[in-house]
Amino acid sequence: MSNASFELLKQRILRDGKCLEGGILKVDSFINHQLDPELLEQMSVEFIRRFAKVKFNKILTIEASGIAPAIMLGFLLHLPVVFAKKKKPSTMDHMLTTQVFSFTKNRTYDVCCSRDFLCPGDKVLFIDDFLANGNAAKGIIDLVQQAGAEVVGMGFLIEKSFQHGGDYLRAQGIQVESLAVIKSLNNCTIEFA
Ligand code: 5GP
Repeated sequence: MSNASFELLKQRILRDGKCLEGGILKVDSFINHQLDPELLEQMSVEFIRRFAKVKFNKILTIEASGIAPAIMLGFLLHLPVVFAKKKKPSTMDHMLTTQVFSFTKNRTYDVCCSRDFLCPGDKVLFIDDFLANGNAAKGIIDLVQQAGAEVVGMGFLIEKSFQHGGDYLRAQGIQVESLAVIKSLNNCTIEFA
């Protein structure tokens, strides 16, 4: 990330982020509840810079918190944005489904996406707010493979490297770009990598 934009995100996390028990960072005032569009725009510009050499025709995310950064990027790149749903709509045909374990909610849920919007041959960039253990990302990889499409990169606003999802994804050969990497939240102190 260019120094200026990384510093901006880092300072914002330090100023407004709150540590919860169990290694969870709350960023409700600018990413997860109230949204800061200007910050999200700057982060999207950074994603564009980092994925400049990667060809993709679609941005994929997962509801709900990935939608804001994904739509900002899709808007800037004029690309469609698809979000995987966490609940199967009764009206959805041609479904792809997988299961994801959420450690923040401590439960497994179904994630689905219509085959109408995730198609064979699609080259997909996945965007999400957080990368922790990588379970959401693994579910997305499964959905994309079922569709006969390809994940060409994964971008996260915040990676918590102490939960090692990033190690797994990078070992699969996926280009993973995280704009802020947190190496520890021990003692409720935010430590960047
Ligand atoms: P993973 O599947 O990589 O373990 O966790 C990623 C998902 O869990 C993200 O989609 C995000 O919504 C949620 N998540 C993981 N860690 C945190 C966290 O520290 N804070 C918040 N707000 N969400 C998190």
